[in-house]
Amino acid sequence: MRQHLFDHHVVILGGSYAGIAAMRRLSKNPKLKITLIDQHPYHYLQTEGYELISSNTSFEETIVSLPSLCANYDNVTFKHRKVLSVELANKRILLNDGEESYDTLVLALGSVTKRFECDSNVYNYSLGAKSLRGSLKLNQFFQDELYKRLESDKKAKENFNIIVGGAGLSGVEIAAGMQHFFNHYYRSNALSCATLHIHLIASRDTVLNGMNERIIRITTKRLEKLRVKVHTNCRIASIYKHETLLNNGEKIPFDFMIFAGGTMPAPCLETLGLKHTKRGQFVVDRYLRATENNSIYIVGDTAALSDKKGNPLPPTAQIAIQSGTLAAENILCTQTKKSLKKSNLKLQGIAIALGGRYAVIDFGTLHIDGYSAYLVKKIIERLYKWPLWWLAYRGFKNIDSCEI
Ligand SMILES: Cc1cc2nc3c(=O)[nH]c(=O)nc-3n(C[C@H](O)[C@H](O)[C@H](O)COP(=O)(O)OP(=O)(O)OC[C@H]3O[C@@H](n4cnc5c(N)ncnc54)[C@H](O)[C@@H]3O)c2cc1C
Repeated sequence: MRQHLFDHHVVILGGSYAGIAAMRRLSKNPKLKITLIDQHPYHYLQTEGYELISSNTSFEETIVSLPSLCANYDNVTFKHRKVLSVELANKRILLNDGEESYDTLVLALGSVTKRFECDSNVYNYSLGAKSLRGSLKLNQFFQDELYKRLESDKKAKENFNIIVGGAGLSGVEIAAGMQHFFNHYYRSNALSCATLHIHLIASRDTVLNGMNERIIRITTKRLEKLRVKVHTNCRIASIYKHETLLNNGEKIPFDFMIFAGGTMPAPCLETLGLKHTKRGQFVVDRYLRATENNSIYIVGDTAALSDKKGNPLPPTAQIAIQSGTLAAENILCTQTKKSLKKSNLKLQGIAIALGGRYAVIDFGTLHIDGYSAYLVKKIIERLYKWPLWWLAYRGFKNIDSCEI
């Protein structure tokens, strides 16, 4: 039985890229009591979601067990709970089962898929790709459609349209991954998939708006080669039962829709009352604290983060990890009465999977694409995942001391 007298209780909400980075850094101070809370007992590797959707990997390859991971640290407790709301005045978090109080709070709840306002029936044949459940459902849905086509010639001749709403990083990866999967399947199962079409809706004149021009060119060419139908300069205006109306008047019939166009904060933070941007990301100071409350750090996709020059940073896993680590360092500095570190977040590069063994990487001045880029992306993914898997494997031995 472990017994400790802790000086300070840090509660981390969200056990993903940002929350885990904060937890690992904070765990180094044995005087801190740390509680990590997540609605799932696993960390879902969203950056590998495209592989799961397009059947290139299995679900256990895309998760890390949170109870096992936390069981490595004497001063960390994992709680598998859903956060319902946060009461700033009482420093209290309401959970689906019980409550938790904190001295310092780290908000790392990411974001959720923003769906369009539409007939609620549409939700029966539409999904977002930000959760393990969503990605698995998508994968199962497509597998099922392919199976029906394989069984029936008549069915195989029918058109099947999938709309991916949003041509940012996740929309592009999903569209390319799925289309590659269909094309590959088509080659190996005669005439079963030529009528499957993926429509990617981009609100600007290109996909990946705002990214490096060369990366956009390479991506556009690859999408063309794969036969993804890219619709530029348009937005989804309305969605009816199996039909979408774009704001340029075009109508696209669809069988399934994937929302990848926008995100919003976790619903439990809606009543938080802290300053946020139009997109719902919370505004932080240069030390990553909520501007109105020094005992709250906000990290990852939940925060509106910017680089040293004040340019907004895109919501990515690497920025989530950097911000989680920095918030933890500043909490440690506060405890040891050292001066806080200013945010110096920097996007090191961006790797985009484009179906099969093909990717494109933007390292700023250096760009690579094709199989070599795919290999680099795989190495980056593994360098993140493998140490966590190893820790989870080691922590599993202590699992009985971890509250789930
Ligand atoms: C398909 C796809 C591909 C992507 N590809 C890349 C890529 O190649 N490279 C890259 O850098 N980024 C990529 N991203 C973006 C990246 O995944 C996110 O920026 C990153 O996951 C943000 O990490 P986070 O820790 O802030 O939040 P999240 O990863 O969203 O995690 C939030 C955590 O909070 C938990 N949570 C939420 N609400 C509650 C609640 N009420 N109670 C308890 N727990 C809760 C969730 O269960 C989750 O564990 C991709 C995203 C998608 C969807």
